[in-house]
Amino acid sequence: MGTTLREIIYTIGGGIPKDRDFKAAQLGGPSGGCLPAQYLDLPIDYDSVKQVGAIMGSGGLIVMDESTCMVDVARYFLEFTQNESCGKCVPCRVGTRHMFDILTRICAGQGKMEDLDELEQLAGHIKSSSLCGLGQTAPNPVLTTLKYFRDEYHEHIQLGHCRASVCEALVRYEIDAETCTGCTVCAKNCPVMCISGARKEPHVIDQLRCVKCGQCFEACRFEAIKRGVATSMASSVSTTEDAGI
Ligand code: SF4
Ligand code: SF4
Ligand code: SF4
Repeated sequence: MGTTLREIIYTIGGGIPKDRDFKAAQLGGPSGGCLPAQYLDLPIDYDSVKQVGAIMGSGGLIVMDESTCMVDVARYFLEFTQNESCGKCVPCRVGTRHMFDILTRICAGQGKMEDLDELEQLAGHIKSSSLCGLGQTAPNPVLTTLKYFRDEYHEHIQLGHCRASVCEALVRYEIDAETCTGCTVCAKNCPVMCISGARKEPHVIDQLRCVKCGQCFEACRFEAIKRGVATSMASSVSTTEDAGI
């Protein structure tokens, strides 16, 4: 008690691997809240954590770096609590499901700005009218990410952009012809066989058939496969080009 997040993460924990930037700390288990870098010097105790929107909860602490998408994180934790809901009361049983569906839509690039108001309203109802602690705290990850990382929600909805390249619907894989050695490893690993190219020649991904599983990205030893943003407009342009239309 009283130890700061910074001491726990950087001194006791040894810091963040690969020298990546700190993005958020999720305190208190699945019903906890996500705190941004501005609270790294927050002394950890029941009251101070509660004041900034998190809870001590189970005492869990998850540290996230820049490669994490905060909308995806909110969705992930809500899916957990939604699955754990016993179903006895409607706000928790139906409300968390509705929130999960909205977050799923946003991660798929189909969100609307009104969704953010609806998420906050639902969260308020669920917190105030659920029968037990699970429902009363389930919206915390959504509320804290909306509070501290709202710009990421805006990017997903308005720009079709996931800055961490986590939300698959907003990601596009492409092979850099300059770097590709034509080793064929990606083509062998692609589950839908949508990568073509002769041995020792640059390979190409058929964007129409790519299911964005990321296996080629993981398999390429030459860092020739780029994982980037696919705005809905960019996708449609490349799709028609790829199809030869
Ligand atoms: S709030 Fe508690 S009692 Fe109500 S459905 Fe959720 S887990 Fe069950
Ligand atoms: S694994 Fe990488 S280097 Fe090998 S063919 Fe695929 S993209 Fe090119
Ligand atoms: S992301 Fe998956 S489906 Fe798409 S090209 Fe790579 S391996 Fe194939």
